[in-house]
Amino acid sequence: NQPRLGHWSHPRWVRVNTIKSDLDEQLRTTFAGYKTIESLEEMLRYSPSSAGKLIHIDKHVPNLLALPPATNLSKTPAYLNGQIILQDKASCFPAYLLSPEVEDGDCLDACAAPGNKTTHLSAILHDEGRAAATPKIYAFERDKGRASTLLTLVQKAAAQDHVIAKVGLNFLNSDPTKTPWDGVGTLLLDPSCSGSGIVGRDATLDVVLPSKKTSNPLKLQSKKRKRKLTPETTPTVNDVPEEIPIDEDKPSDQLSARLTALSTFQLKLLLHAFHFPKARRITYSTCSIYAEENEHVVMKALGSTIAYERGWRILRREEQVTGMKGWKIRGKVDACMDIAKDGEISTAEVAEACIRCEKGTKEGTQGFFVAAFASQVNKSIRTE
Ligand code: SAM
Repeated sequence: NQPRLGHWSHPRWVRVNTIKSDLDEQLRTTFAGYKTIESLEEMLRYSPSSAGKLIHIDKHVPNLLALPPATNLSKTPAYLNGQIILQDKASCFPAYLLSPEVEDGDCLDACAAPGNKTTHLSAILHDEGRAAATPKIYAFERDKGRASTLLTLVQKAAAQDHVIAKVGLNFLNSDPTKTPWDGVGTLLLDPSCSGSGIVGRDATLDVVLPSKKTSNPLKLQSKKRKRKLTPETTPTVNDVPEEIPIDEDKPSDQLSARLTALSTFQLKLLLHAFHFPKARRITYSTCSIYAEENEHVVMKALGSTIAYERGWRILRREEQVTGMKGWKIRGKVDACMDIAKDGEISTAEVAEACIRCEKGTKEGTQGFFVAAFASQVNKSIRTE
């Protein structure tokens, strides 16, 4: 009855959409008759055939449930009417780590489609702001096709009262000094990345290969890797943001060229977010396993002039919301040291503040990375 790694170790994660329902109601209805298992590891020890109706309430993210991987919820009324959302645990970290509050002002999701994190932000603000006027969530998505999925998911989750979708708009073209961006207090950045942490993808092969017919990398597609857009995954194959010179004969060059282009773009987004005058907190996340897209981007951002001018610093582990403070897998010190200049920033502190998830472990997550930044200029930092 040992788990089959890579399959059995990745449970079906379910987020209860608190705009439409709550945990108790779901346990009484959709999951009536399910046996609650205290530890995720224990649940993963059952073989798929004997797993039956088991459920585990997550210890880190509120309103999150784990079920055996084979569980199919796609025909349940709760899934069809948006009371539950199928979302990987790690993908719930950014909105939870950001935990916007009503008094923070408006929120901005810079790279929003398909929209799982947008609807999660909306649920958090909804829970926070029952009695007060709920702030807006501006959701940028530059790809119009993907933005239509975002609009569908927002409607399904009943988040349309909070979310204002900026369809086909590039976040980098927003002027932070102009209304309404000058009122944004929190930003969630989940940019295009290598996708190397996604379960079922091979990190070393996660490279977009150029088609023989086109020299435009924006049109490059890997036949093998072309995937359908589903709300649960974070497609990246079509998201190559910059022109990337790739030598087809050298796979390592392809990977390193792609990582350079991606991380340049990711850093640009993060530095743009640092310019928002009222911003107090920002989260930056990727579903990548590579330091180049993760700790390196964080360290470069912290060492930037705008970070210095606006007082941006890392949100330390002890300042994070309870579930994130308690998450054990943290950033890599060596990766922070790759970028650190002598004595400027404590690499140990930054690494400890960064959150990583690893795929194929007993934690049952995809490979993921998230870090939060706080502005010292605006002192109000939430610690719960
Ligand atoms: N946060 C999404 C979720 O949880 O469902 C996944 C986001 S996906 C990793 C990145 C998205 O950002 C893609 O849909 C891409 O089209 C969009 N994007 C990339 N650069 C952008 C930009 N500069 N402005 C707006 N959207 C952008």
